[in-house]
Amino acid sequence: MAKQEDVFKKVISHAKEYGFIFSSSEIYDGLSAVYDYGQNGTELKNNIKKYWWMSMVQLHRNIVGIDASILMHPTTWEASGHVKAFSDPLIDNKDSKKRFRADVLIEEYCARLEEKAQKEIGKAKKRLGKAFDKKRFETTHPKVLEYRGKQQSILSRMAQSLEKENLEDIKKLIEELGIADPDTGSKNWTEVRQFNLMFGTKLGASTENATEIYLRPETAQGIFVNFPNVQKTSRQRLPFGIAQIGKAFRNEIVARQFIFRMREFEQMEMQFFVPPGTELMFYEEWKEKRMKWHLALGLGKENYKFHDHEKLAHYANAATDIEFRFPFGFKELEGIHSRTDFDLSAHEKFSGKKLQYFDPERNENYVPYVVETSIGLDRMFLALFSHCLKEETLEDQSVRTVLSLPPALAPFKAAILPLVKKDGLPEYAEGIVNELKYDFPMYYEEKDAIGKRYRRQDAIGTPLCITVDHNSLKDHTVTLRDRDTMKQERVKTENLRKIIDEKVNFRTLLSKIE
Ligand code: ATP
Repeated sequence: MAKQEDVFKKVISHAKEYGFIFSSSEIYDGLSAVYDYGQNGTELKNNIKKYWWMSMVQLHRNIVGIDASILMHPTTWEASGHVKAFSDPLIDNKDSKKRFRADVLIEEYCARLEEKAQKEIGKAKKRLGKAFDKKRFETTHPKVLEYRGKQQSILSRMAQSLEKENLEDIKKLIEELGIADPDTGSKNWTEVRQFNLMFGTKLGASTENATEIYLRPETAQGIFVNFPNVQKTSRQRLPFGIAQIGKAFRNEIVARQFIFRMREFEQMEMQFFVPPGTELMFYEEWKEKRMKWHLALGLGKENYKFHDHEKLAHYANAATDIEFRFPFGFKELEGIHSRTDFDLSAHEKFSGKKLQYFDPERNENYVPYVVETSIGLDRMFLALFSHCLKEETLEDQSVRTVLSLPPALAPFKAAILPLVKKDGLPEYAEGIVNELKYDFPMYYEEKDAIGKRYRRQDAIGTPLCITVDHNSLKDHTVTLRDRDTMKQERVKTENLRKIIDEKVNFRTLLSKIE
């Protein structure tokens, strides 16, 4: 089994074993691509939300936050284009009865061609050592040119056929390339069909009068339709933003990557409304700001990259993804899009209401342009969780599992551990918890040997452990153990609040992005 797969399996089992993520309705064997967050997962998720919300709303005077409903008037989705075009091309394998996204099968074929190209590059690098000129090799080596050329022609044919809704050609392409079901090797495919990803439901008491509505597939539209309400009541002037965190629902065709692709998930989106003609400047600004937000978490610059879209969605005039190195490779974590005036203009047309802004400097009314930043909360969770989960071999050759989360995001900030369950140590320890619980989420535990308790805290990412022993009662000092260095030091009980705060506060994190 590939090592990457092992790492990913470990991530999934650790998430379950330590109360971060469970399958939804697990006692009924779960519901495909739907997950529940457990006691520790919920805290971590709330802290990610807080980091995002503070960075957007609290640190920007010109960004305000809202919380729109999941159910919206059905015309919303006609105006936004989702009823017509929010679909993926699917194909079934007649033998295995498995369903795939036709475009993903083709993209994966191209990814394998790229792997071959990378192999050639790697071989040459090894052979030539310092004399290796990567750029020259890539532009002249016949095999690399062949693999890359083939990729390009396949992807552009696919893009053209999808654009023209020529699904027959997509099937033809799959057959020509000899693409097989990755699990069974069968090439017995059905026709390709478009499948709308929106979940429909009914609003109303009786079946005859019920209206067909949708669970929102993105949170953005709740912001667009509220633009005039928020602009007027907040008295904001352009440029200004509206931020929102909320659930979105997509009936994904293939959802086999844990919380990377879910059917019910959460988005953190911010729509920044700007005067026409300035959108590309703000787009660049937000690209930079969002990357800084990620880098401040300290997961390593080499694990992020921008992937600019060559083929733009009909509403965008620039778009990029921030990709992260997940255990299964670089994949989209966040999207940044310059969405022009597409959404507001469409809602104007469908609703018959003006969604314009009077610009006192230009002395004119216009429909604002929009730059959007959109990140999946669950994907962000997975990025953090999978990167921070480590197995370390210690000096005595024992292995410890540690979740080295950024301290501000850890579910618990400190654990208070009385060395023994007697002699007044629990009472002293509880006194500390009662003092600090108003400022920090604290963990209290008195069962098992202290080493075992430290390991349990390492596994859920608690940055500090505070051990109370017999000396604590005499001199009011405790042992402070650091999760990452495992160093222990003696500190005064009265200094604990200050020490913990310095380690875990959001200020340290947020000041890195300013
Ligand atoms: P993908 O190409 O992976 O399907 P997308 O381009 O459709 O994603 P957007 O519509 O741009 O995604 O949504 C913005 C963000 O929402 C994504 O960057 C991702 O983090 C998150 N997201 C989208 N779909 C899902 C999903 N099914 N499960 C979890 N997160 C998702």
